[in-house]
Amino acid sequence: MKAYTRQKRIAALEYLISQDTERLREETDLRIWNEERQARIDLIKAFPPEYRKQLIRQLRENEDRDDGIHELLIHLQNGVWESPSKIPAAAAEVYLTEPKATPWLRCKACRVLLPTRSGFWIKENVDGFWQGNLRYFQECPGCGGQIIHRGTEKPVEFPATLPLRPEPPWSFVDDVGTEGKPWFR
Ligand SMILES: [Zn+2]
Repeated sequence: MKAYTRQKRIAALEYLISQDTERLREETDLRIWNEERQARIDLIKAFPPEYRKQLIRQLRENEDRDDGIHELLIHLQNGVWESPSKIPAAAAEVYLTEPKATPWLRCKACRVLLPTRSGFWIKENVDGFWQGNLRYFQECPGCGGQIIHRGTEKPVEFPATLPLRPEPPWSFVDDVGTEGKPWFR
Protein backbone atom coordinates (compact mmCIF):
# COMPACT_ATOMS: atom_id res chain seq x y z
CA MET A 1 0.00 0.00 0.00
CA LYS A 2 2.77 2.38 0.95
CA ALA A 3 4.70 1.67 -2.29
CA TYR A 4 1.58 2.29 -4.35
CA THR A 5 1.04 5.72 -2.75
CA ARG A 6 4.63 6.62 -3.37
CA GLN A 7 4.36 5.54 -6.97
CA LYS A 8 1.27 7.68 -7.38
CA ARG A 9 3.02 10.65 -5.86
CA ILE A 10 5.97 10.23 -8.22
CA ALA A 11 3.60 9.97 -11.19
CA ALA A 12 1.83 13.14 -10.08
CA LEU A 13 5.15 14.96 -9.71
CA GLU A 14 6.32 13.76 -13.12
CA TYR A 15 3.10 15.04 -14.63
CA LEU A 16 3.58 18.44 -13.01
CA ILE A 17 7.19 18.66 -14.23
CA SER A 18 6.19 17.75 -17.78
CA GLN A 19 3.48 20.44 -17.72
CA ASP A 20 6.03 22.93 -16.47
CA THR A 21 8.56 21.97 -19.15
CA GLU A 22 5.87 22.36 -21.81
CA ARG A 23 4.91 25.77 -20.43
CA LEU A 24 8.56 26.89 -20.34
CA ARG A 25 9.06 25.73 -23.92
CA GLU A 26 6.02 27.71 -25.01
CA GLU A 27 7.21 30.80 -23.18
CA THR A 28 10.66 30.53 -24.81
CA ASP A 29 9.11 30.14 -28.28
CA LEU A 30 6.90 33.16 -27.69
CA ARG A 31 9.82 35.23 -26.45
CA ILE A 32 11.93 34.35 -29.52
CA TRP A 33 9.04 35.07 -31.92
CA ASN A 34 8.51 38.41 -30.23
CA GLU A 35 12.20 39.30 -30.45
CA GLU A 36 12.26 38.36 -34.14
CA ARG A 37 9.15 40.44 -34.78
CA GLN A 38 10.59 43.41 -32.88
CA ALA A 39 13.88 43.16 -34.82
CA ARG A 40 11.93 43.29 -38.11
CA ILE A 41 10.02 46.37 -36.95
CA ASP A 42 13.24 48.08 -35.77
CA LEU A 43 14.98 47.28 -39.07
CA ILE A 44 12.10 48.68 -41.15
CA LYS A 45 12.10 51.85 -39.02
CA ALA A 46 15.89 52.20 -39.42
CA PHE A 47 15.62 52.11 -43.23
CA PRO A 48 14.93 55.37 -45.11
CA PRO A 49 11.17 55.65 -45.94
CA GLU A 50 11.78 55.36 -49.69
CA TYR A 51 13.40 51.91 -49.24
CA ARG A 52 10.94 50.42 -46.72
CA LYS A 53 8.55 48.95 -49.31
CA GLN A 54 11.39 47.06 -50.98
CA LEU A 55 12.74 45.89 -47.61
CA ILE A 56 9.31 44.58 -46.50
CA ARG A 57 8.93 42.75 -49.82
CA GLN A 58 12.35 41.14 -49.42
CA LEU A 59 11.62 40.17 -45.79
CA ARG A 60 8.36 38.51 -46.89
CA GLU A 61 9.76 36.73 -49.92
CA ASN A 62 12.91 35.39 -48.39
CA GLU A 63 12.38 33.85 -44.96
CA ASP A 64 15.49 31.66 -44.98
CA ARG A 65 17.83 34.34 -46.15
CA ASP A 66 21.55 34.29 -45.69
CA ASP A 67 22.54 37.85 -46.53
CA GLY A 68 23.29 41.26 -45.07
CA ILE A 69 19.62 41.94 -44.24
CA HIS A 70 19.47 38.71 -42.23
CA GLU A 71 22.67 39.64 -40.40
CA LEU A 72 21.26 43.07 -39.55
CA LEU A 73 18.21 41.36 -38.00
CA ILE A 74 20.44 39.07 -35.91
CA HIS A 75 22.53 42.04 -34.70
CA LEU A 76 19.35 43.88 -33.69
CA GLN A 77 18.10 40.80 -31.85
CA ASN A 78 21.27 40.15 -29.88
CA GLY A 79 22.04 43.80 -29.17
CA VAL A 80 25.21 44.14 -31.30
CA TRP A 81 23.44 46.97 -33.08
CA GLU A 82 22.16 48.83 -30.03
CA SER A 83 19.60 51.59 -30.47
CA PRO A 84 19.29 51.29 -34.22
CA SER A 85 20.69 54.35 -35.92
CA LYS A 86 19.18 55.26 -39.28
CA ILE A 87 20.64 53.42 -42.26
CA PRO A 88 21.83 56.01 -44.78
CA ALA A 89 20.12 55.72 -48.18
CA ALA A 90 23.36 54.77 -49.95
CA ALA A 91 23.93 51.87 -47.52
CA ALA A 92 20.26 50.77 -47.73
CA GLU A 93 20.69 50.54 -51.49
CA VAL A 94 23.74 48.27 -51.07
CA TYR A 95 22.01 45.97 -48.55
CA LEU A 96 18.94 45.59 -50.77
CA THR A 97 20.76 44.98 -54.03
CA GLU A 98 23.89 43.06 -53.01
CA PRO A 99 23.13 39.92 -50.97
CA LYS A 100 26.84 39.32 -50.36
CA ALA A 101 27.34 42.69 -48.67
CA THR A 102 27.47 42.05 -44.93
CA PRO A 103 27.46 44.52 -41.99
CA TRP A 104 31.04 43.95 -40.79
CA LEU A 105 31.74 47.67 -40.46
CA ARG A 106 30.25 50.47 -38.45
CA CYS A 107 30.44 54.25 -38.14
CA LYS A 108 32.38 55.34 -35.09
CA ALA A 109 30.21 58.43 -34.66
CA CYS A 110 26.59 57.35 -35.36
CA ARG A 111 27.19 53.59 -34.79
CA VAL A 112 25.27 52.53 -37.89
CA LEU A 113 26.32 49.16 -39.33
CA LEU A 114 27.83 49.53 -42.79
CA PRO A 115 28.22 46.95 -45.56
CA THR A 116 31.36 45.43 -47.00
CA ARG A 117 32.44 42.37 -49.01
CA SER A 118 35.70 40.52 -48.64
CA GLY A 119 37.45 39.22 -51.71
CA PHE A 120 39.99 39.91 -54.39
CA TRP A 121 40.62 42.54 -57.02
CA ILE A 122 41.87 42.01 -60.54
CA LYS A 123 43.18 44.75 -62.82
CA GLU A 124 42.79 44.61 -66.58
CA ASN A 125 45.94 43.51 -68.39
CA VAL A 126 47.79 43.01 -65.12
CA ASP A 127 48.83 39.56 -63.95
CA GLY A 128 48.08 38.67 -60.34
CA PHE A 129 45.45 39.86 -57.88
CA TRP A 130 45.00 42.04 -54.81
CA GLN A 131 43.26 40.95 -51.63
CA GLY A 132 41.05 43.66 -50.20
CA ASN A 133 37.52 44.44 -49.12
CA LEU A 134 34.95 46.06 -51.29
CA ARG A 135 34.30 49.00 -49.01
CA TYR A 136 31.72 51.12 -50.88
CA PHE A 137 32.34 54.24 -48.80
CA GLN A 138 35.33 56.31 -47.74
CA GLU A 139 33.45 57.56 -44.69
CA CYS A 140 29.99 57.05 -43.19
CA PRO A 141 27.48 58.02 -45.92
CA GLY A 142 25.12 59.23 -43.19
CA CYS A 143 27.21 61.52 -41.00
CA GLY A 144 30.72 61.49 -42.49
CA GLY A 145 32.11 59.65 -39.45
CA GLN A 146 35.10 57.32 -39.46
CA ILE A 147 34.47 53.73 -40.57
CA ILE A 148 35.68 51.15 -38.03
CA HIS A 149 35.59 47.37 -37.74
CA ARG A 150 32.35 46.24 -36.06
CA GLY A 151 34.02 43.70 -33.79
CA THR A 152 37.39 45.24 -32.89
CA GLU A 153 36.20 48.86 -33.11
CA LYS A 154 39.55 49.64 -34.78
CA PRO A 155 39.84 51.85 -37.85
CA VAL A 156 39.72 49.78 -41.02
CA GLU A 157 42.82 50.00 -43.19
CA PHE A 158 42.02 49.83 -46.88
CA PRO A 159 44.72 49.79 -49.56
CA ALA A 160 44.56 53.29 -51.04
CA THR A 161 45.25 51.94 -54.53
CA LEU A 162 42.02 49.93 -54.64
CA PRO A 163 38.79 51.68 -55.68
CA LEU A 164 35.70 51.94 -53.44
CA ARG A 165 33.66 49.91 -55.93
CA PRO A 166 34.55 47.83 -58.99
CA GLU A 167 35.02 50.05 -62.01
CA PRO A 168 37.26 49.65 -65.08
CA PRO A 169 40.07 48.66 -65.07
CA TRP A 170 39.20 46.96 -61.75
CA SER A 171 36.91 44.02 -61.14
CA PHE A 172 36.07 42.28 -57.86
CA VAL A 173 35.60 38.59 -56.96
CA ASP A 174 34.10 37.35 -53.68
CA ASP A 175 34.90 33.68 -53.91
CA VAL A 176 37.92 32.41 -52.07
CA GLY A 177 39.54 29.15 -53.10
CA THR A 178 41.98 27.02 -51.16
CA GLU A 179 45.04 28.43 -49.37
CA GLY A 180 43.50 31.90 -49.25
CA LYS A 181 43.83 32.33 -53.00
CA PRO A 182 40.94 33.27 -55.25
CA TRP A 183 39.32 30.41 -57.19
CA PHE A 184 40.51 31.78 -60.53
CA ARG A 185 44.23 31.30 -59.83
ZN1 LIG B 1 27.77 57.83 -39.22
